[in-house]
Amino acid sequence: ASRKPRAEWDGVGALADGHPVKLLANVGSAADARAAADAGAEGIGLFRTEFCYLSAAEEPSVDAQRAAYAAVLAPFAGKPVIVRTLDAGSDKPLAFLDMGDEPNPALGVRGVRVAFDRPELLDRQLTAIAGAAADTGAELSVMAPMIATAAEARWFAERARAAGIARAGVMIEVPAAALCAREILAEVDFVSLGTNDLAQYVFAADRQLGAVAALNDPSQTALLRLVGMVAEAGAAAGKPVGVCGEAAADPGLAPVLTGLGVTSLSMNSAALASLGATLRAVDLPGCREAAAKAS
Ligand code: PEP
Ligand code: MG
Repeated sequence: ASRKPRAEWDGVGALADGHPVKLLANVGSAADARAAADAGAEGIGLFRTEFCYLSAAEEPSVDAQRAAYAAVLAPFAGKPVIVRTLDAGSDKPLAFLDMGDEPNPALGVRGVRVAFDRPELLDRQLTAIAGAAADTGAELSVMAPMIATAAEARWFAERARAAGIARAGVMIEVPAAALCAREILAEVDFVSLGTNDLAQYVFAADRQLGAVAALNDPSQTALLRLVGMVAEAGAAAGKPVGVCGEAAADPGLAPVLTGLGVTSLSMNSAALASLGATLRAVDLPGCREAAAKAS
């Protein structure tokens, strides 16, 4: 993959004092992945696999999934990639999954919950993902969305290992998961904070509803305290804690998240160069001071 950092960023994900912060890309298509590699992303921090299937009338075959995932992973041979398993339901309904009618879809059968009564669906996807990583030489991790408990994290990690995948992690986007990060980190190799959903559930403010958009603001103390708790649990376990929600790309928030102990930030690749430059202009004591003030 080519690296073309812009003039203001030297292409290294680090603070002014050298403290490393991995700068990764959120992608949903092969075009996104090419743009991410061109922008200098150190890897993929979130591949939203559901974006490949939003219009599929039937579940794609394992071979079709494998080819679709390989097209996305191809520019990242030899680099770390985190592939998220299907995050269907709620704001992302999939035509081939009959979710039934739910009065509160954001609190319903969404994310990993879809697989609890049809684990073969997850197993087929894990097989396809493992195949795509083998085809491309990308350094694979898989990650489950909407995990609420340590038991769910263990269930997912066991299925990933059964599919031959060495590294399994989960998203922290449900407040219960943030509060039990220590127990969850005992089951998995890493976690990544989904601040879009975490803010929605912490502030009880629908992420799709303009009327409560001001409340759904990840820079508020309640959300940052949870981030700090998860980062502390990660440091104690010696395991990475990333952020892959929109907050990661916010130049005001990225230093705060870093000061709280987050080890990687994953964002739309268009934000990478300027965010990389923002971080290169601050040091770790400054980030810690900003974190202490904000949380
Ligand atoms: C999040 O919830 O912050 C996240 C990264 O996942 P998505 O936006 O796909 O729900
Ligand atoms: Mg989410």
